[in-house]
Amino acid sequence: MRNERIGDYLVSQGLITEEQLQKVLATQKESNGAKKFGDVVVELGFMTEINFTKALAGKLRVQYVDLDNTDINTDAVQKVPEALARKHTVIAIAITGKRLTVATNDPVNFIVLEDIKVSTGMDTVPVLATTSAINKAIGKCYSMQNVDSVLEGVTAMASDLGGPMDEEANDRVESAPIVKLATTIVENSFRADATDIHIEPFDKYTRIRIRVNGDLVELMNISSAVHSALTTRFKLISGMNIAEKRIPQDGRFTQVVDGTTLDVRVSSLPMVHGEKIVIRILSTGQIALRKITDLGMSDYNYQLFESMLRVPHGVILVTGPTGSGKTTTLYAALGEIAKPNVNVVTVEDPVEKAIDGINQCQVNQKAGMTFAAALRSILRQDPDIVMIGEMRDTETADIGIRAAITGHLVLSTLHTNDAASTVVRLVDMGVAPYMVATSLIGVIAQRLVKVLCPNCKRARMSTDEENELMGIPSSIQIYEPVGCPNCNNTGYRGRTAIHEIIHCTAKVSAIIAAGGGKEEIEAAAKANGTKLLRDNASELVQAGETSIDELVRSTFSV
Ligand SMILES: [Zn+2]
Repeated sequence: MRNERIGDYLVSQGLITEEQLQKVLATQKESNGAKKFGDVVVELGFMTEINFTKALAGKLRVQYVDLDNTDINTDAVQKVPEALARKHTVIAIAITGKRLTVATNDPVNFIVLEDIKVSTGMDTVPVLATTSAINKAIGKCYSMQNVDSVLEGVTAMASDLGGPMDEEANDRVESAPIVKLATTIVENSFRADATDIHIEPFDKYTRIRIRVNGDLVELMNISSAVHSALTTRFKLISGMNIAEKRIPQDGRFTQVVDGTTLDVRVSSLPMVHGEKIVIRILSTGQIALRKITDLGMSDYNYQLFESMLRVPHGVILVTGPTGSGKTTTLYAALGEIAKPNVNVVTVEDPVEKAIDGINQCQVNQKAGMTFAAALRSILRQDPDIVMIGEMRDTETADIGIRAAITGHLVLSTLHTNDAASTVVRLVDMGVAPYMVATSLIGVIAQRLVKVLCPNCKRARMSTDEENELMGIPSSIQIYEPVGCPNCNNTGYRGRTAIHEIIHCTAKVSAIIAAGGGKEEIEAAAKANGTKLLRDNASELVQAGETSIDELVRSTFSV
């Protein structure tokens, strides 16, 4: 009954159509009531989880809480045991007198609230949050306690052994503390939004660092005694040869954390004090492909990018240093142009995310499957759109450009600092200037900048020197990072991209064909409306989204 009424409410609010409601109810019926109404609405793509939860809050007259941007009180968290929190998908977030505020995805479930009341002896005030936000918060808030207990287990094990566990390590990797440690490391890294994990052996200890928002931060230090067992555990689950410790290896495994399936890539490299393991976390499945509207482009750049993608053949290049989000942009572009009536083929190293409906091909250097070799075969398979992970060498660049001239749309990346240098680099690589000029549709240079934590950023007036950096005449209010529990005391939360797009107009093409240099190309592009990376970063600083430090770091480094 309740579900039906929620459905009718959504229809009356114009949030879903009557037809969609019938589909949801039918799907729910098929599952014999095992699926909740809200889950089905989200699963069928009729509403986002956040929008559904907000609508539900409106209907039930319960407050909606965005847990990602809420200060969660640790004393409140600890009132509810972890097992209970996980069982009911709830997290206590605040204490007011004798009342405990509890975030739940089901505020009308009185059994849950009763359970918590009995367990804590406090009155409960329910607020509504999304299931995924609650699961993430549970992971984050309880995980530090887990780390302590896991480390205790590992330390006890190390002291039992009285020395390094080298020879018998293989028996130990299946032992509970090591398995738990490996799992906990991946869990905590994912919950901290880390992209990479470094497990680094030193003489006296092993350091574990994670990369968050582009910077490495320390996660924990562990005893050297367990290093070998831990690395062996990771090698074992990622399918490497655990007996081989003298040469680098790579492998992969999957792990489910808080309902998200992670695709985890592992590589090992022998060092003086043992093998260093680097783990890259790629999420699959649940995390949807970004749309080009979600890339953080300014309106001007977005229009330009979109018009470039509509050109039927030619080359579009995305450039920037490693970790500047080039692949995300390429994938978003593919998502935009991959229609059922075109054949889209990619050649990548590695394939970072599997995309439905696109033929993806993995480079395998050892087997002779290089970018160039793969590309030659792909071109024999009647493609319309080809995405080349990287134009790493002259041969690949040459084949790519020729493919564009013969009627294909080619997307690729290059490691250069800005858009204009990219053109010069292609010519330096040995591609004839007239070929570049004929085929190039445009170049997008990009960088990632950290976004200031909205919870703790501090306003102040800009100095003369900073005005000069931003290219503005007089002081304005800008923001600087501070640090609070919401942002792990870094002052930043998440990242956004800045872009610089050169569209190859007839004038720009003529300059390229004549062998023009970077300055000449850039000047022509600017006259045509191109905003440089620094202009883009300056806009973000002026809007209070990022700091002067980030502007300098992202646009002045070489
Ligand atoms: Zn903060």
